[in-house]
Amino acid sequence: MGVEDRFGRPLANLRLSVTDRCTLRCQYCMPERDYVWLPRADILTFEEIETLVDVFISLGTTKVRLTGGEPLLRKDLPDLIQLLSRKQTLTDLALTTNGILLAEQVSALRRAGLPRITVSLDTLHADRFQALTRFDSLPAVRRGLEAATRAGFDSVKIDTVVIRGVNDDELVDMLEYGRSLGAEVRFIEYMDVGGATRWSMADVVSRQEMLQSLSAHYGPIAPVDERTTAPADRFTLSDGTVFGIISSTTEPFCERCDRSRLTADGVWYRCLYARSGTDLREPLRAGVGVDGLRQLIGNTWQTRDDRGAEDRLASKDRSRLIPVETLQSQPHLEMHTRGG
Ligand code: SAM
Ligand code: SF4
Ligand code: SF4
Repeated sequence: MGVEDRFGRPLANLRLSVTDRCTLRCQYCMPERDYVWLPRADILTFEEIETLVDVFISLGTTKVRLTGGEPLLRKDLPDLIQLLSRKQTLTDLALTTNGILLAEQVSALRRAGLPRITVSLDTLHADRFQALTRFDSLPAVRRGLEAATRAGFDSVKIDTVVIRGVNDDELVDMLEYGRSLGAEVRFIEYMDVGGATRWSMADVVSRQEMLQSLSAHYGPIAPVDERTTAPADRFTLSDGTVFGIISSTTEPFCERCDRSRLTADGVWYRCLYARSGTDLREPLRAGVGVDGLRQLIGNTWQTRDDRGAEDRLASKDRSRLIPVETLQSQPHLEMHTRGG
């Protein structure tokens, strides 16, 4: 039996972070020089992750997305994918990656049974990529993404965070690039989540603006008529090309949000913006057992009333969310720890 929260939202969708480490330092996620990492001993083993995923499944979870940090840094990741891809009741298993290590790992990921993949890519200009991520890795990401489109996935998507004055003139180029690869592009509004210590509302390009600039080039854009809990609203160009926009900042979708997040060290968050989470590692390692975990997770979800992005939208003083010093003492507030 699935559980629902106070607003009737099911516990359907789990974002599972497998590491807090990353190969990039994106300006909107990890802009600082130094980070405090999770202790290695705290990182959940694959066996522990499987136990927790089984409990989530028993409470109604049908979708799991592997994330990080950079998930492809996690040693032997295909072994975990193999474990998860055998779960009959998981109707959706996917992974979000920055793509750098993808070309070398894509065959192993496919062989392990990964059906869907999303590659984050914000610009097609090498100099911008370097300025945005601190690494000169655009060719590696393109190689990875292009290898993914040949690897037989059910779907390959490209996630693009749009930032004013950085890449907002590349919407058409990104769509064309995605179209040339058969990959659906999803434009993401810049969010003021923990980690985004340089965020300012002035840098956010709203969904409305994105649609305006795309229709100036392509002509009329029609919304795709579908009822889903997916964060992206999807649209079609007149030639049938479909793309998505995730408007978490200006038009949040908390009302239908069925997502929760598990960090690599087993802390579970009911909202991306939540200040505190539930430690599942401690009871798991203390031998509480599946029934105890089930009760803990189920009861906690039933009391959920989080609507973090809507609260942010309603707040009068909208500057960056969390000061750097707080992030350094509480790395769980970071986007790269929560898994985005
Ligand atoms: N490292 C992987 C990657 O970049 O795809 C997976 C983890 S990353 C935290 C997951 C997603 O969060 C990425 O698509 C990234 O662009 C997005 N993200 C990170 N910080 C963001 C922000 N401030 N606003 C909007 N999206 C953000
Ligand atoms: Fe960039 Fe993803 Fe790494 Fe964050 S976790 S710095 S979004 S690659
Ligand atoms: Fe869900 Fe929280 Fe994001 Fe709203 S802010 S969509 S409740 S995770």
